[in-house]
Amino acid sequence: MFEIKNLTAGYSSETSAIHDINITIPKNEICSIIGSNGAGKTTLLKGIMGLLPSKSGEIIFDGTDITNFDSEAISQLGIGYVPQGRMIFPYLTVEENLLLGCEVRKMNLKKALEIGYDYFPDLKGISKRKGGMLSGGQQQQLAIARMLVIEPKMILLDEPAEGIQPNVVQEIGRILQKVTSELNVSVLLVEQFVGFALDLSHSYYFLQGGEITKNGRITEENKAQIIDSIKL
Ligand code: ATP
Repeated sequence: MFEIKNLTAGYSSETSAIHDINITIPKNEICSIIGSNGAGKTTLLKGIMGLLPSKSGEIIFDGTDITNFDSEAISQLGIGYVPQGRMIFPYLTVEENLLLGCEVRKMNLKKALEIGYDYFPDLKGISKRKGGMLSGGQQQQLAIARMLVIEPKMILLDEPAEGIQPNVVQEIGRILQKVTSELNVSVLLVEQFVGFALDLSHSYYFLQGGEITKNGRITEENKAQIIDSIKL
């Protein structure tokens, strides 16, 4: 279980970019944070990952209060983060990028590669290619694979569908659903592509101007209505 209680955070002492955020994500579930540019989505993820200090509130992960833990400690607890823009090392090969992920939790290298290639078999065929030579979709797959090699217990993804061809977006969605059930993780997915996000998710939170203005469970029956009610 992952819980955020009354979290407020920002970049200066005078102003806050996110205010009084409350989110709960059970294991085995994907939760989407939907919001337009500047709504505070990345700020929320940075707050969770200890990259931005919180001003008030709590972040509870599997019963441990991780509020304001540093980012290394948070990674070591098993929270995997795929930042916006993917952050692939362009001069390292696919394999070297994957193995860098292992450093975080001192994983067995052979096992790590097996995990990465098991979820994204296409990466195996291009394992010696430099990160900078990959397409946007391949880079996103590599970024997610690099996070998965730490065998995470919780996953944070910042706009994984951004700038990627629709068929690769669908493939990434399918893998995320597989990962969620197989690894028994909670997933927090930040997105602007509302249809993609809601198709995958069990619940959603709509972030506007740093505040949650709508949230709820997603079912086949109410999905169209939710999409209609969210205007980015
Ligand atoms: P996008 O979809 O464009 O990535 P977002 O929803 O992730 O947007 P944030 O990047 O979290 O939005 O930005 C929330 C607010 O915080 C915005 O007003 C933004 O200008 C501000 N902000 C973001 N990064 C910084 C920073 N490093 N210093 C000061 N203000 C920042």
